[in-house]
Amino acid sequence: MPSEDTDKLKARVVDEVEAQRDALIDLSLRIHDNPEAGFQEEDACGWLCAYLRERGFAVERGFVGLATAFRATRGADRPRVGLLAEYDALPGLGHACGHNIIAASSTGAGVAVGRVLEATGGSVAVIGTPAEEVYGGKAIMAERGAFTGLDAAMLVHPGSRNAVLTAALACATLHVEYFGREAHAASRPESGINALDALILAFSAVAALRQHIRDSTRVHGVITDGGQAPNVVPGHSAAVFLVRAEDESYLEELKERVLACFQSGAQATGARLEYRWDDVQYAPLRPNRTLAEVYQRNLAALGRTVEDPPVPRPLGSTDMGNVSLLLPAIHPSIAIAPPGMSIHTADFARIAASEEGHRGLLDAAKALAMTAVDVLCDAGLRRRMDDEFHASQRGS
Ligand SMILES: [Zn+2]
Ligand SMILES: [Zn+2]
Repeated sequence: MPSEDTDKLKARVVDEVEAQRDALIDLSLRIHDNPEAGFQEEDACGWLCAYLRERGFAVERGFVGLATAFRATRGADRPRVGLLAEYDALPGLGHACGHNIIAASSTGAGVAVGRVLEATGGSVAVIGTPAEEVYGGKAIMAERGAFTGLDAAMLVHPGSRNAVLTAALACATLHVEYFGREAHAASRPESGINALDALILAFSAVAALRQHIRDSTRVHGVITDGGQAPNVVPGHSAAVFLVRAEDESYLEELKERVLACFQSGAQATGARLEYRWDDVQYAPLRPNRTLAEVYQRNLAALGRTVEDPPVPRPLGSTDMGNVSLLLPAIHPSIAIAPPGMSIHTADFARIAASEEGHRGLLDAAKALAMTAVDVLCDAGLRRRMDDEFHASQRGS
């Protein structure tokens, strides 16, 4: 298709997003005002499904066996673009990661693209992916084949800068428990085995380990049981730790070393260690550069300048990493907050419902829809994306 026609179609999808402005902001605010944690996003899932059904999409709720996942499709053929929607909140902090904006922007983009399919050919799927924050919903969905048949997968995450080549670390979750023996802490301490001491020694061992591992790695955790009363030697303690690294092979090495820290706590105190690694592991994010460049040009056409730092600072971990290992995918960031403001804070939760948040939502929806048009119309682009994807598979 000549590029002139593609440009006209892009102008049309921008108009189609603009036509949804009030409805998308309403959707975003409704989700924001009603924060639901991972796998409990029943209202958000219901609102998004209704929005898409009312606009001509075929909607499957409970997609791949997850109650709060969905797939909404328009058109049946390849090529097919997937726009991923996250909508889980952070327990206690509400929408401090701005997933209400991800949900509304991918949904708005999907509707806009759905209205030009007769010209582009192909199809579009908006895929609702629950529980990004804690359970790795996309990792589970990836294993169940939720993303097969897509030529590209995209979502835009709100943040403090416009960036396309965002990085994210592979991440594993470790649950530990120590079992000691209770005793009166003053009258019979010699008969106790202190499960809290075991945990604190393990924390210290992890702190020492941090000096001698790669800069990009992260190991951090919280104590979830530190005993019940100061006059009782704690007979039980528990913690949850996250272990993160840039690649999966270093992550495996690091997991062994972190576990050794916890074993040392058991050895020193005589408490018994029980541990469990979560089945779901977040893969590192590998953005498709070819697709990212196209997105960047479209975002620039909307008046936003992309500033990727020479070495992208990992934003943490995301289950979009697991998707990026399956097919060409991008996970750009759009600025809604001042530089330096961190996600996962109360301030960011406020910004996610502000005018700046709405602007980010609409620009993200437009850039996503324009990029989807490029992917659907340009077989050469799809080939280049695939070539890059397969080359990166061979390299990893
Ligand atoms: Zn988050
Ligand atoms: Zn997030």
